[in-house]
Amino acid sequence: MIGLVVVSHSRRLADAAVDLATQMVHDRDLRIEVAAGLDEETLGTDATAVADAIIAADSGSGVLILMDLGSAILSAELALELLPTQHRIRLCAAPLVEGLVAAAVAAANGAALAETADEADNALIGKRTQLGIDTTPEALPEAVPQNETTMRGSFIVANEHGLHARPAARLIAELRDLDCRIELRNLTTGTGPASGRSLSRIAALGALTGHEIEITASGPAAEHGMNRLLMLARQRFGEEIPALVADHPAPTTSTGPLPTSTGIAIGPAWQPETTHFVLPDHPAGPPATERRLLDDAIARAKERLRSEIQLHPGREPRYTSPQSEVFQAHLLLLDDDELITGARQQIAGGAAAAGAWATALDTAAQQLEVLPDPYLRARAADIRAVRDQVLGELLGQDTRVASRPGILVAADLTPAQVAGLDETVVTGIVLAHGSPTSHAAILARAKGIPAVSAAGDSVLRIPTGTTIALDGATGELAIDPQPECLAEFRATAAEQHNRRQSAQSAAHDVAVSRDGVMVHVAANVGSAAEADHAVRAGADLAGLVRTEFLFLGREQAPSVEEQEQVYRDIAKSFDGRRVVLRTLDVGGDKPLPYISQPREANPFLGLRGTRLGLAHPELLRDQLQAIVRVAADYPVSVMFPMITTVEEVRTARRMLGTIAPPDLDIEVGIMVEVPAVAARAAVFAGFVDFFSIGTNDLTQYTLAVERGNESVAGLADPLDPGVLHLIDKVCRGAGDTRVAVCGEAAADPAAVPLLLGLGVSELSVAPPALPLTKAAVRELDIQACRAAAARALACESATQVRSQLARNIALRGRVPTA
Ligand code: PEP
Ligand code: MG
Repeated sequence: MIGLVVVSHSRRLADAAVDLATQMVHDRDLRIEVAAGLDEETLGTDATAVADAIIAADSGSGVLILMDLGSAILSAELALELLPTQHRIRLCAAPLVEGLVAAAVAAANGAALAETADEADNALIGKRTQLGIDTTPEALPEAVPQNETTMRGSFIVANEHGLHARPAARLIAELRDLDCRIELRNLTTGTGPASGRSLSRIAALGALTGHEIEITASGPAAEHGMNRLLMLARQRFGEEIPALVADHPAPTTSTGPLPTSTGIAIGPAWQPETTHFVLPDHPAGPPATERRLLDDAIARAKERLRSEIQLHPGREPRYTSPQSEVFQAHLLLLDDDELITGARQQIAGGAAAAGAWATALDTAAQQLEVLPDPYLRARAADIRAVRDQVLGELLGQDTRVASRPGILVAADLTPAQVAGLDETVVTGIVLAHGSPTSHAAILARAKGIPAVSAAGDSVLRIPTGTTIALDGATGELAIDPQPECLAEFRATAAEQHNRRQSAQSAAHDVAVSRDGVMVHVAANVGSAAEADHAVRAGADLAGLVRTEFLFLGREQAPSVEEQEQVYRDIAKSFDGRRVVLRTLDVGGDKPLPYISQPREANPFLGLRGTRLGLAHPELLRDQLQAIVRVAADYPVSVMFPMITTVEEVRTARRMLGTIAPPDLDIEVGIMVEVPAVAARAAVFAGFVDFFSIGTNDLTQYTLAVERGNESVAGLADPLDPGVLHLIDKVCRGAGDTRVAVCGEAAADPAAVPLLLGLGVSELSVAPPALPLTKAAVRELDIQACRAAAARALACESATQVRSQLARNIALRGRVPTA
């Protein structure tokens, strides 16, 4: 092992620096000597003392000298002259504290003199990164010899202060002895790669709490290294949890009930039978038997989930997107090697299958529960949900909740439990815990059951039959309310009900504004079942059929025949109304197992939508073939998603031209999601029959806010004037080309007047939003909408746009005189 010598003017400074550095190496050996001060108190340096320290530190592998400044350097240089030449010594220019810490970690882990000196020299990179000061170019990844095993994995940093020096030092120490190379990348910030042996490079990743770190392990012990690192990450590299818990309390007890699913509910409280799992103390059989029991239970739980979403080839999902997405996420958890390996390791060590599974998943859930990000915290509920599903299978217990009339009060519910509720019987949900971002909450919204969450444990003591009133839009919760309070809830409920009823009763009429402008209100659908729903809810046409549902969650692409059948069913439901079939819009964020897709750091900027279709022409060709067959019998249009260039439109149209008979009347449109297309809509208009603005993606790309990223969600407002300017550009550039909007903004009552005022003539919304969107159009005066749109374009922010709209009474009813 190489030795370290600290040369400083101050003994106290040197001792403190050594103290800090030794803390980083935990219990590992370290040869470190101090030559500092003329005595305990007097500042100064002495060459003879430095020479003595070098001799004491050198075990034959060399010595690295770290110095503070000025005469410390001169004394060190003089010491070299005093010593015989057999000592291999390097003087290091690194800053004393940072350099010593980096060198100590490297030396304690067996690094040679040159590598240790290199580590010390780079010791400031991490600090510079953290402070946003220019950083030295990142280390190039080490070349991986051919035929060598390479594995990838990732973890979320759960340490309170991120992957700072101590956890990083622990990481290096734990991996040093293994015959593998580890590289780390910070996927959240895009920094890296950093060698798993380098403290300075790891620091330069700037890995903060909640960041996702990708691990690449290669070499003979790659798997071992990967598992060890993932395990360490789960254990927060040995840092304590309690501080985290104290710093970031879950917002469940102090804030009162949180609004979770809109609507008013009044009814008697009831509590479901709770499932208590009694975990066996001892395994029933040898590890091989317990492991088989676990594998079988996981397989049965997966089968149950699959039958919930009906993912089997040739059948369409029974549920609409929220449910199928939630259950697909649970299927992925049940495929998660990390979780399963954790349980198997315990079984191998003599644990019973049920106990091993419960412990492995509880540990994983606890790690998420302490994160400050509420979205990540809510994912812990998903881990517990799959834990219970498998435990139910293992122990033969049914975890479903049988629906009873009234308001269900529970500690929390799993998504599967909410999905199984009968919404015609259960009128409301009160959860003591949980959160509005949980998957259970998403499913409550999808089912239209009013709900509040995080109401606190006291709700669990509400006697069965007690009247409860709740407002899922505001989070208000009244237990055994006074008659006046109840009357208020009833009045709000009646008002909402009347509004919905009158919208519903006119849902099949066209939507014409007060000043006589007709607006097509279309439906976004993701399955034949949703198409039926849309038609019943009054859709004028299908403005967007998200065909992805046919392609996801399966092992092979659907055949032309299968696609044709589904598109035909949808067109048939729409009974002569136009159906806009969007070609496959997936990408790196939703990978397909049957095509090879590169791993992308920014999948939303990658091979997505039409880019993917053109890169895999066999997929696009099959889909166009199916669409063309249906177009012979029904009015269908084809729409290409994620278009960026005119060339893409040309190529896609050319492919369609080779498939469709020349006399087939098939409209072709594109989604406007990329700002470059919006900016040059006038050029694109020459190549298409219609535009459909995807405000979800247009907002993401215009404002540079990733969809679904909670931490920037506040910025993602499609009413930002920047987005409105692009919509304006599309409408003005379109000329005679029809302009629709099919993003979520089309169903936002605040956005509707602006979109219509800018010149949009079709709004395509989720089926449940159809009646109210039509009702909103009927209340509007388009002339006033134009004036409001012009004012919105001049606003400085989305907030100003929204507050101006809220004040504008001319929009609804009064035709302005000017
Ligand atoms: C959009 O981007 O607004 C859109 C409707 O497409 P998707 O949400 O399917 O990406
Ligand atoms: Mg989109």
